Amino acid sequence: MPNEFIEAIPIMEQIKAAGFEAYFVGGSVRDVLLNKPIHDIDIATSAFPEEIKAIFPHTIDVGIEHGTVLVLAEGNEYEITTFRTESTYQDYRRPDEVVFVRSLEEDLKRRDFTINALAMTTSGEIIDLFEGASDLEAHLIKAVGLAHERFNEDALRMMRAVRFASQLDFEIEEDTFAAIKELSPLLQHISIERIHIELVKLLMGKNRDRGVLAFVESQLSQYCPGFKDKADSLLKLTDLAPIDIKSEAVIWVIVCYLLEIDENNCGMFLKKWKLSNKLIETTKKVLLAVRYRLIHQWNVERLYALNEEQVILTEHVLQVLAQPHDCKQALSAYRALPIHSLKDLAVSGSDLIKHLEQQPGPWLGETLKELESAVLINNVSNEKASLLAYLAQ
Ligand code: ATP
Ligand code: MG
Repeated sequence: MPNEFIEAIPIMEQIKAAGFEAYFVGGSVRDVLLNKPIHDIDIATSAFPEEIKAIFPHTIDVGIEHGTVLVLAEGNEYEITTFRTESTYQDYRRPDEVVFVRSLEEDLKRRDFTINALAMTTSGEIIDLFEGASDLEAHLIKAVGLAHERFNEDALRMMRAVRFASQLDFEIEEDTFAAIKELSPLLQHISIERIHIELVKLLMGKNRDRGVLAFVESQLSQYCPGFKDKADSLLKLTDLAPIDIKSEAVIWVIVCYLLEIDENNCGMFLKKWKLSNKLIETTKKVLLAVRYRLIHQWNVERLYALNEEQVILTEHVLQVLAQPHDCKQALSAYRALPIHSLKDLAVSGSDLIKHLEQQPGPWLGETLKELESAVLINNVSNEKASLLAYLAQ
């Protein structure tokens, strides 16, 4: 058992000593059986939130309405969630209301896929009520129970299926896939924020090609912002270089590039996908730089328009697009720029006002711009005396 699990055992033993059940559940059990590194462990219990709070002196209500209590013990934090069912589904979305129950089976039954419905005891024994272990072995993503019903309850599960196909390189089981194909329009009921998270995980997954094929063939892509009738362009995502994508900005630059969304329309497109303003800004700048770099080499102005991270991202996009790239060379050229922003200029606006004895006005910005360009192309060195002398010429 990995350390993350072992550390949690005393907590679970305490819950058990109080007369309740406690198990490891969800993605961490799946990942440990796959010998994959685990990030967060989920613990499920028959104890109700108030009962958990009575056992442990230090707890935080992080999502008590969903049954989750954070237990602080021995310098660690543990998310403990009460067994629950989600009885009333409305509008094809996960319900806001959950019902706490005492039975593990009830809890596992409402989980999305058999591979995510495994539980593990504190002694490492696997509880497998839905043949999750054999599906893990067969590399299958299969809905718990009737796929059709499960996707009707919560349509996001369909996006989760194609996301896991990419992350795990698993096949989506036949009936499960047929249900997704049929019910894909229900994705329209799901918030873009939640679809966004799954799409990014899909495209950052190890087996992007498999995930993309499932996403497009299942028709799920048809119900995503800006993807209607774009199957051919989206399938180009399977022609990328087989390397991991390390940052979300790279995903969006590549999507915009393949969908031929230009800089003018890219802001609107990304807003629909609910990206943060900062990420939109980065995506736009890098997209512009990529388009330039596909034809030209870097030059001083192009480098100066970016920051260091954006230069790295641009070269990374070129790499993923299987185009000639050289991140090292681009970075050293960037670092060799005499200045990286107006702030680096050795004279400030107030220096100029003082020195030229003029009132502030439009001339000020123009003069600073002129100095900035002169420094960038090495017409003058970035020292106060040189810059003032340059102006006097
Ligand atoms: P990851 O590695 O991305 O964390 P995960 O399987 O742990 O994958 P989470 O979103 O962390 O996914 O959810 C934890 C568990 O909760 C899942 O393994 C699954 O059992 C259950 N679950 C999550 N979302 C849903 C859903 N929409 N419908 C049903 N069960 C879900
Ligand atoms: Mg998880």
